Amino acid sequence: MKKRLLKYKKYIWPAVVVIAVLFLFVSLVISPMAGSTRKLMIDNWNNYEKTEAHLSAPKQIANEYDAKEKINENNVIEIVSSTIVTSTFSSTTSDRHKNKIDGDKKSIEEKNRYGDYCLLAPVLTYHHIAPESEALRGGWQTLNATDEYFEKHLVYLRDHNYNFVSAEALALSLRGRRNNLGVRPVVLTFDDGYDDVYNYAYPIAKKYKAIMNLMIPTALIGQSGYMTWDQLNEMKKSGLVFIYNHTVTHSNLTQDDPDQIDYQVNFAQRRLNEMMGPTPKIFTYPYGGVSDVAIENLRQNQFLAGFSTYQGFDECLSQIYILKRKRVFNEELSAYGL
Ligand SMILES: [Zn+2]
Repeated sequence: MKKRLLKYKKYIWPAVVVIAVLFLFVSLVISPMAGSTRKLMIDNWNNYEKTEAHLSAPKQIANEYDAKEKINENNVIEIVSSTIVTSTFSSTTSDRHKNKIDGDKKSIEEKNRYGDYCLLAPVLTYHHIAPESEALRGGWQTLNATDEYFEKHLVYLRDHNYNFVSAEALALSLRGRRNNLGVRPVVLTFDDGYDDVYNYAYPIAKKYKAIMNLMIPTALIGQSGYMTWDQLNEMKKSGLVFIYNHTVTHSNLTQDDPDQIDYQVNFAQRRLNEMMGPTPKIFTYPYGGVSDVAIENLRQNQFLAGFSTYQGFDECLSQIYILKRKRVFNEELSAYGL
């Protein structure tokens, strides 16, 4: 044994020299080259702001993210956080975010390569679901998808192997940087708590085992034309229906002052918790009115996500408080790009 080791002794020093030369070559030549290539790519990536922040921040909340309570909000990147001005609130806020989203033509792969975490997950928006005659009588046909079309949509989604998921599951998947949503996730959202959603949409959703996400303005519940708390609780118990925050009075937050925004966001959440039991902190802006003050309020109160009315089917961690949705009406879903 000892003899055999001695036989290799003469190779030890040459080996050490070769390793040392390789080490110097990698550290002095290859690494700087890779670094400068990366820098060049980043420089060319004009539309994406705060690139360096994106590269480092999200990784801190990467992997094994589990408890909602453990969110360190400082680590949740937010493309708007650098632009938040807490002393002002203007109606142009929504436009600014919308322009940013419209101008963003990068693919999911491209974004993920630069440290964001994005998923292809269409979020569809409905308001009323009722027969056309009822919508005409009520004067809200522009907010209505007929029950007939709603069923067609569910058949389409089922036949195209879409997987119905909750808004909370989408938010947690983005925050956890892990796709727990299956191959083709889709989120169905229903705004405002109209009673026809209970009367028409819910029975159809049960038939296809489709998950529904209801965005509820708490003060409107129980009023004429809206669902009751009992109906909401009945649907929630089915396991198919999830209830979330859509303010107290369906207020346009771009026109509210910070105190009103705080009330609209947090009183609604307390009311939901009181009437429905613990309710995941998912928020939807009425009228798509995204306001910087509201975003900051959601962030500080550890909301998981906020849904806007900006269009698009890719959802990103960097836009967790302005997630996109697509309004759908009486057309086949293929007409909307699904
Ligand atoms: Zn609404």
